[in-house]
Amino acid sequence: MRLWARMRELLFPPACSACGALLDRPDFLEGRALCRACMQEWERQKDEPCEICAKPVRLCRCTTGDMEQYKCEAFCKLVYYMHGKREPVQNRLIYAIKQERTHRTVDFLAKELAHSIRALLLEKHVSLENAVLTYVPRATAARLEYGTDQARELARALARELSIPVLPLLERIFGMRRAQKHLNSAERMKNANKTYRVRDCESGKGKTVLLVDDIVTSGATMATCARLLRRAGARRVFAVAVASDDLQKEPKNKK
Ligand SMILES: [Zn+2]
Ligand SMILES: [Zn+2]
Repeated sequence: MRLWARMRELLFPPACSACGALLDRPDFLEGRALCRACMQEWERQKDEPCEICAKPVRLCRCTTGDMEQYKCEAFCKLVYYMHGKREPVQNRLIYAIKQERTHRTVDFLAKELAHSIRALLLEKHVSLENAVLTYVPRATAARLEYGTDQARELARALARELSIPVLPLLERIFGMRRAQKHLNSAERMKNANKTYRVRDCESGKGKTVLLVDDIVTSGATMATCARLLRRAGARRVFAVAVASDDLQKEPKNKK
């Protein structure tokens, strides 16, 4: 295993997940997925202020209207996704984990998110023993196309970081027939409602469920899944994502 990791390092020298520059060995060994310049920009993006609570986004817990309605209590995220752009470092990381096979970017993001989750659980007086992870399952077609389910991989990496279980509590009934981004709020909820169901009712009962996705757009999917989980007996549900692309609450593009 270790030999294979060495060989892979030789064959595919570790490059920055955002700009592709080769990583310095110390950065790589510390599990960073970004070069120095992109890391600086990443840190800056995590400090962008929330327009509602005015805290840096990495500390913001604000939920979307949909989440609030379905009692998804808190939404923990690291950065704002910049809609319609390809260049920003956070956007590139989101693209990277959608097709990554090495897990380096996923592991890096899980490390970053684990800090936020620990802080969130402290704030909400939830002990790690009472928390479990689950994820929003990706459509089979997308999973087959890219060979990965980034929300599941992120949840698994978080489980290793936090030493808590990841449970496949949800499943898709069938692939979403329409892409969420072209729908209005009511249509999105309806669409999401027809897409997911609880797969395992027992193991999440009485627990605080950390519901993981890579990026949250309207929050309709998170809200629907939170409602399903609560109906199945989850005590509380917190949403966790790398990025928030909330079109309702962040209408203007960040600079
Ligand atoms: Zn870079
Ligand atoms: Zn906020």
